[in-house]
Amino acid sequence: MVGQISIVTEWLPEEMGPGSIFVLENAGEVGAEDDPYWAVLGCPECGTLGLITRRQMRGLLPVICGSNQCPAQFMISDEVVVPRKAN
Ligand SMILES: [Zn+2]
Repeated sequence: MVGQISIVTEWLPEEMGPGSIFVLENAGEVGAEDDPYWAVLGCPECGTLGLITRRQMRGLLPVICGSNQCPAQFMISDEVVVPRKAN
């Protein structure tokens, strides 16, 4: 698992590797009103792309990889990836 988030400013899916994050152009406008979708994150373990919400981006909620094959769970804290142990 990579330990650092790297923010990309241009949406180039083929360049989204593990730990890459792209803030949505319509961040805050889609999803739940109190916790809208905010960015696309490449799983720091396997690189699978998934949407994360504002609370996940701020490190208030854990991120769980969307891939069936990847058990990654982690928190984002000031652009650092903090792994979580699965329960
Ligand atoms: Zn993963």
